[in-house]
Amino acid sequence: MSAAIVTGASRGIGRGIAIALARAGWDVVVNYASNADAAREVAAEIEKHGSKAAMVQADLSRSDDRTRLVAEAYAAFGDIELLVNNAGVAPDVRADILEAGEESFDRLVGINLKGPYFLTQLVANRMIAAGTQGQIVTISSMSAYTASVNRGDYCITKAGLSMLTKLYAARLAEHGINVYEVRPGIIATDMTGGVKEKYDRLIFDEGITPIRRWGTPEDVGKAVVAIASGLLAFSTGQVIDVDGGFHLKTL
Ligand code: NAP
Repeated sequence: MSAAIVTGASRGIGRGIAIALARAGWDVVVNYASNADAAREVAAEIEKHGSKAAMVQADLSRSDDRTRLVAEAYAAFGDIELLVNNAGVAPDVRADILEAGEESFDRLVGINLKGPYFLTQLVANRMIAAGTQGQIVTISSMSAYTASVNRGDYCITKAGLSMLTKLYAARLAEHGINVYEVRPGIIATDMTGGVKEKYDRLIFDEGITPIRRWGTPEDVGKAVVAIASGLLAFSTGQVIDVDGGFHLKTL
């Protein structure tokens, strides 16, 4: 059986991806930051599907945690064929870019951008050393190209992930490792719980997404399984929008 690391798999989109992969026959390393109970529940769900789960606590903004995560993942499953960089955080407070502080910027860059950049480096080097024809998927956001002036720090980290994908896709192709970016739109998770009414209005009253519903973690999970199936073998550096058509410009 093939094994995947999913970062931030204890809740929300990461949970959806981990369970979708387990359904498709993958063993999964369930990474989380602090919510061990939620991670345990996801691990149990994975095992219900006949796959194996290994829980690994690691704060992705910390170098030593990233190293330990990779070591424990390989110790658990021997080889890793898929890395899903999913973990990410929004600013604690949405603040206008003319006022927003450095503390939030540094926190978001550390978790959302530096974390996946160097975790990908670690896993890619392990895949190359083992001769693994693996895949790397990074969950960015429609915020990679949509300017929200009250959370510039978040948008900048997501735009950076788009370049992360291009860079690693270009570098790793010669090793048979394909790299993809999945861009979710508005997905119902804890992250969007605090702005539910605003997004309800935008989706259902204003039709901001041509497909007029909230996205679900399962929607993103299915997209990752589609990539993980290996059927996109001659595509790398590709962006897959999972956004109900939000990215379309219409006239
Ligand atoms: P969420 O429900 O808030 O879950 C966040 C996950 O990330 C949790 O598993 C959390 O672990 C983990 N995490 C947080 N900080 C971490 C750290 N320092 N190290 C390791 N793991 C950490 O968020 P979500 O909505 O599922 O978002 C998942 C990803 O999708 C993020 O990258 C987000 O930017 C992106 N995204 C979300 C939406 C949306 O509408 N929800 C849209 C586009 C993109 P604990 O449970 O231990 O805290």
